[in-house]
Amino acid sequence: MSSIKVLIAGGGIGGLALAVGLRERGVAVEVFERARSFGNTGSGVELTPNGVKSVDRISSDLGAAVREAGWPSDRHAAPMPIMSSDGRLLKSRELDGFGDKWGAPLVGILRAELHRLLAEATRRDGPAPITVHHGAEVKAAYTEGNTATLRLADGRTVTGDVVVGADGVRSVLRKAVAPDARPRYAGFTSVRGISKRPAEHGDGFCFVGPGGHFFAEACDDRRLFWTATVNAPEGSWPAKPIETARTDLLDVWGEWSSPLPETITSCDIKDLVVTDVYESDPLKRWRAGRVVLLGDAAHPIGPVLGQGANMALEDAARLAVLLGSMSDVPAALRTYERVRSRRASKIVNHSRLVSRLGHTTNPIVARVRDLLLKAMDRRDQTYRDKELFSYEP
Ligand SMILES: Cc1cc2nc3c(=O)[nH]c(=O)nc-3n(C[C@H](O)[C@H](O)[C@H](O)COP(=O)(O)OP(=O)(O)OC[C@H]3O[C@@H](n4cnc5c(N)ncnc54)[C@H](O)[C@@H]3O)c2cc1C
Repeated sequence: MSSIKVLIAGGGIGGLALAVGLRERGVAVEVFERARSFGNTGSGVELTPNGVKSVDRISSDLGAAVREAGWPSDRHAAPMPIMSSDGRLLKSRELDGFGDKWGAPLVGILRAELHRLLAEATRRDGPAPITVHHGAEVKAAYTEGNTATLRLADGRTVTGDVVVGADGVRSVLRKAVAPDARPRYAGFTSVRGISKRPAEHGDGFCFVGPGGHFFAEACDDRRLFWTATVNAPEGSWPAKPIETARTDLLDVWGEWSSPLPETITSCDIKDLVVTDVYESDPLKRWRAGRVVLLGDAAHPIGPVLGQGANMALEDAARLAVLLGSMSDVPAALRTYERVRSRRASKIVNHSRLVSRLGHTTNPIVARVRDLLLKAMDRRDQTYRDKELFSYEP
């Protein structure tokens, strides 16, 4: 067992994944999570091969559990269609042989299920202890000499060798590292849900059209999760009663081609979540002394490329391996910052470009985008996928 102790602010996807990865490598961990218990948050996530390989690297048992609990691409019966609002096929996403090609499959999985598997994994015995504190809101973190300190909202302080800010898009620990960084509203809101699989395109589908983007993917043999993004003023959608949000969603998407409208109507209201989307310029600094950022705290990213959870898992796997294998803690943190900020910057910039094209309300730009999508041949697609999916944690 290593002699260092890591303190993690935030027990979300990135924080818990890091905790498990460190524990597997003999590093003691304490997690401080603001929520009193882990709830049912969000709809689903598409883990792409880079994310699945990162989970495997964190713990091979966890990787197997994720494949079992979700809907891997080798179960898809057909390519995933990308359609325009009137149902014209713009492109198909080919999933045959996907896992063999990239070293891991795509896995559609409910966000709550992924979180439950991570939380369960923290409770297993391992070479080092993990303690998860609930109702523990973190206020600040700082470094003094070789010690990193966390200050909690109740006034207590806790010390360790490293503090990791995995406290999400509204991170308070970001201030310790990049005081001027402020995530900006991306100009659109995201409505997420879980619905019955439709008879047609039950494994998943995607629509792109004027001012919005709708993505749906199977998470088991009965259900699919979906994300709709809608251009809107900041705060306007989260302020709506949830039933109004559904009605308004149908005002935008209700006339689009099947199976989009019925996917929205078959969603149980308790499974609808509305969140505004925030993005930020890629951070140049990810650490200050022994305080370091991970996941959305370091790189808030919109949902269009579906990389938020995948990047948090990539960060977690890389940091776990570095801190578990290098006795020089500052050197491990420097390497983490260098390697991860380079990759995250590329993906954040890419996501913003795709997002702008996807949400354009300019009919000429939209037409050019649709033509480009249609013209993209398999080689272009492979090139883009390669950047994301060939990643080895
Ligand atoms: C409500 C919600 C729903 C989402 N749904 C989807 C989805 O359906 N599909 C998708 O692809 N992506 C979704 N995302 C985005 C995706 O889940 C994130 O990109 C990914 O979870 C990043 O992981 P993370 O660990 O950095 O942040 P998170 O998973 O957001 O975890 C951050 C954790 O920190 C805790 N925390 C925050 N502040 C403090 C503090 N001061 N002290 C202690 N703890 C704190 C939070 O309670 C949370 O548990 C959603 C995000 C949210 C917040």
